[in-house]
Amino acid sequence: MNNFVNLCKQEDYDIASLEQFVLDSISRLGVKGLKAGSTVLVKVNLPYLSKVNDANTTNPNLVAAVVNVVSNMGAKCIVADSPFGNFNETNMDKVYFSTGMLEVANTTKCELNSDFSSVNLAIPDGVRTHSLPIISIAQKVDCIINLAKLKIDAQLGYCGALSNLFGLLPGQTKNLYLNRQNTLKDFYNLLIDLYETMSDKIVLNIVDGVVARQVDGTPNLLSVLASSTNAYAIDSQMLKIVGIQQENSVIKLAIDRQIVKESNLYHAMGESELNFANADFLPTEIKLDSKLKDGISNKIYFNMHQQRVVIPCKKCKGCGVCAELCPAKAITMKFDKSGELFAEVDYKKCIYCNMCYLKCPYKVISLNTPIGYKQIVKQLENSKE
Ligand code: SF4
Ligand code: SF4
Repeated sequence: MNNFVNLCKQEDYDIASLEQFVLDSISRLGVKGLKAGSTVLVKVNLPYLSKVNDANTTNPNLVAAVVNVVSNMGAKCIVADSPFGNFNETNMDKVYFSTGMLEVANTTKCELNSDFSSVNLAIPDGVRTHSLPIISIAQKVDCIINLAKLKIDAQLGYCGALSNLFGLLPGQTKNLYLNRQNTLKDFYNLLIDLYETMSDKIVLNIVDGVVARQVDGTPNLLSVLASSTNAYAIDSQMLKIVGIQQENSVIKLAIDRQIVKESNLYHAMGESELNFANADFLPTEIKLDSKLKDGISNKIYFNMHQQRVVIPCKKCKGCGVCAELCPAKAITMKFDKSGELFAEVDYKKCIYCNMCYLKCPYKVISLNTPIGYKQIVKQLENSKE
């Protein structure tokens, strides 16, 4: 995976020029995998009931341009996303209509995803999680084009290529995993965990910044389209264009985790990045240590939906195995009043991996499963039918 980023000045969503951009991207970046007979997932960004002109959703003309180019290469395109809310036919029909994807399907050769099942993605080397549920179609296809919208979210900060992948989590499970993260840093580390596991399948990332969405929800004619085979490279480039400090971004964590080198983040090609340098973008105050769970509604949601481990101090044998294994260092060994050792969980640090539950040699750890969690699991099971 190289670090080239192909930049293009694009004032509008004219399909012919968008197709030229996609063709240029494929040839300049040496994109592989888009061959005759292959099935390609076009992973768009379709927030629930967003409309075509609110700068919140991947523009349908850009989706059509990608589909036309890839279809002409003999590959089959499936357009998919999983917004917040229920991931089922009823909701997705509404989303496909309001975001213009139905029109794309009617005028191009693509299919809109109608597989609402999910599978478990193992992330053995993850920092924030060791597995995630993802929509099944992402595993069934041969490759993925990650077609993101450039947005600044008041809670999640810069949204581009890496954050677009969060939409691979099915429906309401996104709330669950978002609420498991204490800070923006935790959320960004989760995105990195996901991308590191999926990156072999993602052959091209495109960020739609022609009309970008600012932190207050207003559109900004940024006139930039970018493409790269490398999500870190494209997000590094776009962060610079919208004026967000790298130290407050997912890229800082990728550097800290020694996945990318600060001295070699991206190499711009095509339009000079200097032509976008004066983007008049609203500033944002977001920092890596910004809390994600401050809101009372988030806390209520979390308590209603989060399955968590429980260690009864009277049953605990004090062996310390769980504290030793806990990847988040969330378990402390303490003495009770009679001088017996027991294990205590700090839920602010816990990443809900259930490792302690699985490994306790005395099987004294139980799982507290609230009703909301059971409902989400039921929804996932139903969607597999
Ligand atoms: S306390 Fe248990 S569930 Fe929480 S992070 Fe540690 S091992 Fe995982
Ligand atoms: S592994 Fe089980 S018995 Fe040992 S300290 Fe942890 S909870 Fe207690």
